[in-house]
Amino acid sequence: MSDKDDAEIMRGRLRSERINSLFSEDELIEDYYDQPAANDSSCWNDYGLSTLQSSGTVSCSSSMHSGSTEGLDASAQLLPIIKAGWLDKNPPQGSYIYQRRWVKLDADYLRYFDSEKDTYSKRFIPVTSIVRVASIGDQKFEVITNSRTFAFRAESDADRNEWMRTLQQMVDERKFKGLNRISLLQPPTGALDSVDKCGLLELRGFKNKLYVVVAGEKVFLYKNAEDYRQGIGITYIEMNVGNVKDVDRRGFDLTTPYRIFSFSADSDQEKDEWVEAMQQSIAEALSNSEVAEKIWSVEANRFCADCGSPKPDWASVNLCVVICKRCAGEHRGLGPSITKVRSLKMDRKVWTEELIELFCQVGNSVANQFWAANVPPSEAIHVASGSQERRRFLIAKYKEGKYRRYHPLFGNQEELNKALCATVTTSDLAETQSLVFCGAEVSCFSGDPDFPNPIALAEQAGQKLQMEFLLHNKNSEIPRVEAGSSEEKHYSVILPSVTHNGFLYKTPSMAKLVHERKSREEFSRRWCTLNDSIFSYYENDRNAVPNGEIKMEEIVCLVNNPPDTHGFESTFEVYIESERLYLFGLDNPEAIWKWVKSIAKSFIHPRADELLSHDFERIGRLQYKGGLNLERAKEGWFALSQSVLYAFFEDSDKEETVHLKKLQELSIQGDSLVLVERRRTLYIQGERKLDFLGWVAAIQKAAGSSGDTLSEQQLTESDIPVIVDRCIDYITQCGLTSEGIYRKSGQNSKITSLLEMLRKDARRVRLKEGEHHVDDVSNTLKRFFRDLGDGLFTKEFCQDWLKAAAVENEEEKIGQYRQLLSSLPVVNRATVKALINHLYRVQYFSEMNQMNTHNLAIVFGPTLFQTDGKDYKAGRVVEDLISRYVVIFSVDEQEMRKQQDEIQAIIKMRIAGSSSGTQQAGDFICTVYLEEKKTEAEQHIKIPATMTAEELTFEILDRRKIETKEKEYWSCFEVNEREEAERPLHYSEKVLPILHGLGTDSYLVVKKQLSMENMLIYLASRVSDSKHGMMKFREERNLLGLGLSTGFHDRYFILNNSCLRLYKEVRSVKQRMPAMETSHRPEKEWPVKNLKVYLGIKKKLRPPSCWGFTVFYENEKHEKQQWYLCCDTQMELREWFASFLYVQNGGNVWPSESSKVRASRTQQDSRLGNISLIPLRGNENEMRNSVAAFAADPLTLLRNV
Ligand SMILES: [Zn+2]
Repeated sequence: MSDKDDAEIMRGRLRSERINSLFSEDELIEDYYDQPAANDSSCWNDYGLSTLQSSGTVSCSSSMHSGSTEGLDASAQLLPIIKAGWLDKNPPQGSYIYQRRWVKLDADYLRYFDSEKDTYSKRFIPVTSIVRVASIGDQKFEVITNSRTFAFRAESDADRNEWMRTLQQMVDERKFKGLNRISLLQPPTGALDSVDKCGLLELRGFKNKLYVVVAGEKVFLYKNAEDYRQGIGITYIEMNVGNVKDVDRRGFDLTTPYRIFSFSADSDQEKDEWVEAMQQSIAEALSNSEVAEKIWSVEANRFCADCGSPKPDWASVNLCVVICKRCAGEHRGLGPSITKVRSLKMDRKVWTEELIELFCQVGNSVANQFWAANVPPSEAIHVASGSQERRRFLIAKYKEGKYRRYHPLFGNQEELNKALCATVTTSDLAETQSLVFCGAEVSCFSGDPDFPNPIALAEQAGQKLQMEFLLHNKNSEIPRVEAGSSEEKHYSVILPSVTHNGFLYKTPSMAKLVHERKSREEFSRRWCTLNDSIFSYYENDRNAVPNGEIKMEEIVCLVNNPPDTHGFESTFEVYIESERLYLFGLDNPEAIWKWVKSIAKSFIHPRADELLSHDFERIGRLQYKGGLNLERAKEGWFALSQSVLYAFFEDSDKEETVHLKKLQELSIQGDSLVLVERRRTLYIQGERKLDFLGWVAAIQKAAGSSGDTLSEQQLTESDIPVIVDRCIDYITQCGLTSEGIYRKSGQNSKITSLLEMLRKDARRVRLKEGEHHVDDVSNTLKRFFRDLGDGLFTKEFCQDWLKAAAVENEEEKIGQYRQLLSSLPVVNRATVKALINHLYRVQYFSEMNQMNTHNLAIVFGPTLFQTDGKDYKAGRVVEDLISRYVVIFSVDEQEMRKQQDEIQAIIKMRIAGSSSGTQQAGDFICTVYLEEKKTEAEQHIKIPATMTAEELTFEILDRRKIETKEKEYWSCFEVNEREEAERPLHYSEKVLPILHGLGTDSYLVVKKQLSMENMLIYLASRVSDSKHGMMKFREERNLLGLGLSTGFHDRYFILNNSCLRLYKEVRSVKQRMPAMETSHRPEKEWPVKNLKVYLGIKKKLRPPSCWGFTVFYENEKHEKQQWYLCCDTQMELREWFASFLYVQNGGNVWPSESSKVRASRTQQDSRLGNISLIPLRGNENEMRNSVAAFAADPLTLLRNV
């Protein structure tokens, strides 16, 4: 006690008295303290006790809007008060002494207090637990709950009737219409749904321990556990004003501006747990109200813009109005094209500084001056208005614009647009609002190509708030009164009404994903009903008052768990907007599926109801980005069924499918899950954490291999397992000439670990020469086939294949093989073909690798048929398939030729590779950039040996759905960073050899060749095939110092169709010009075919102009030389470069048929419909910049020749 002075002791004593006088709900205690000295009370109530104040009903507006206590009252009350007044309450002990109580009713609770100034009640009764209200004469009435009856006496019959009417109305509304609660975090009935900590605690001033519950942002006090179960408590403490302090070993204080609660736990460990739980609760309350507090700092934003309820914590971000939860529910019904509803407390991400500022400047006051300029009192809604009334009002207000103040230019589209373009450059947000919602087009053309629309104009003028407002209203629907049809139209988007009921087992709701198995004991049996878009659960089927409810429109995701995930055979999970998860179960899969379908049907947007036709595991809505507009996240509806993700994107009524096993890439970047397909990239965003994490895990699982049969593997575009594809590619690249390939055994441990890696996520495995031995890879492939569940030829048909091998008539045999092939599942068929094609190539090199068809058959027969080598017919089948490959698989001539080309290319590369000693990458996947080298412009692309630069360019453009316009010359460039030079590849150049020759400081990029048009014009207009003229020349100084030159010197050059010659004596050359080419002896001469010409010269060499190029020359002995040539003007450089292209490619500089090739390629994939998605990577800002780069003048971005 040393550190506690007398004052502290005094405080403690007084505090305990105060608490007694306010909280002692034990009626005996209450009686005991029934007549406290007036002084005692007033000394604690700084604002004085008002026992003398006359009683009466206080309307919402007078209790909340006026009076000196408003600030305090409001901060402790998040709920609008529906009715308040003085009543006498009788003690239940049979005593006749009535006690005067200040009684308040809000949407969740009926509470009574010692005085109207008190923050903490003596008693709270959840409205949901009230069964009915009954009159008992003498101005008295009873409030009847399941467990108890509370009697009150009013001052007059009129007052009594008013109370009864209000209460009864609320009870009825809850029962039949299903009222929204302020938050599901605080279900007001029965045991709380989301309890963080509960148990008995001593509270100073109370005889007995209280049952204390920490739940979400509140701490509830109950007399005992039984009261808690019944939901009837003493008071609750809003933790946004709380502060927790350690006092001693077992004691701690919860301090609020109104009261100090001194608790004492049973042990110090218990105390620590309580302190932590309460601190968490405070943190939650504070972080959640930060945005709200800022927005509420403006007086008008403290009341719902539509019904006047205080402390509205929802908003429509495009209309700039702050609204209450009940109005928010109705806003949602209008659809996002009219109003975009977000929570001030939960949707934290949307609240940027700009948006908050916009709400402070516009907000309810400015918005209502426009939207509610002419509201007839008979149509206005108020705090207690019912759902239908609200809906009708909100349709009239925002959808039809019935009460709005019309802009003088209304109806004159052109003038409206003009006015908008002018206004957005000023700070007049009210005018912008008026213009936009009277029909001015947010995306109209301003007439200025540099700032083509109002958003660009606002940006240019630095009007960030104008921009913010316009961005949120880019796709807003303009109010329109449609005679008669509006109601109908509105109801067409209202969720279908599904009715379903039955018993389900339920766990308390959770704020985390359920990773652990929940035992049966953790579930409680509940009677559940789905009715009028509300799912309610009751203690039993005789109860009229639900323990809790879930509104269909709050559901964001529904998961049908695999059987036996928890203690019940079947379970499903419901995720709601406010990040809670509900788990239900039953031992009846059919009944569960019926529930899942019913719930799904009632929350999925009707336009996406096709999703319901799938046997989905998970269904719901998510934010996504895709297409060219990555600025704005859109809402899509998704369903996951096995390995297919079905989606309904915004503004599209067509179902899209994403085959997850065929993804090229699946990664998490920041808040997004990135799915890269061949022709699109989809960013799924984590708007809410809980359901997003669930989706991520489910999609990742679905995208991996799910079993050991072929079709359960990750697949390529052509339905071949990625495992098989990777191994075949690698062997083709590095093992075709390896002796004894597929026969030699590898290292068992390496094979095992490689196969394991590939099985886990084949997509991410990159096989590399040097790292992976060909024999390890070949044996990995064999083992994969040997262990394959169901085998390559399937158990069903396996014997038929072996029988066919014994058929003597060759033609008949082949006929049978073909027949059997066609009966295989798609993936098996594609894999057989790919494998046999591969083996066909392997035997092609049998002179080097010693593996002829027969040898391969001996190895592969038993592997593919899983026969352990006992059945010789297995080898026969494989032998037949390889040797009759062309016939059995109907390989046409073109395919065959391609095959030959590829083999030739491989051989060439092997030879070149081994002679120059360069290390080759094991597979053909490389990174190509679009426009410029940035991670978000990266494309990972598989390069077959036959791929040309043109094909690569188209592939990249296709992926991003970039249309090539006339006179746009998209090319693939090889960029050498060290030399600061780049070379456009000729369209017919094969990419793979170039790739293998690329140094670490080089890369490929696809971009427009800006000078191509001028070059083509030049080439068409010139008279001679040769080109000559002066250029500045510098040679790379070689190590022996023999190269001499240290600077650039004038030289005369002649380029003809065989050589590039360099002359020192300019004059002599000039004099003899016509005959010079053969007679004069050049200083240097290089055959043009061996030259590689790059645009640019590294700055370190100080080129005399920026119009230079670097020429690499390699002779037969692989000796390398480097020249730097520099022109005086851009035109000269262009002419020289064009001449090089012309000479090196036999005059064929640009394909004449290129657009046709492209057109036929883009048609191949029509499943994308009208949605275009671009594969970009990186964060949102970078993506935006990259997209902007398309629209901006390319000259500023790209090097011009
Ligand atoms: Zn409202």
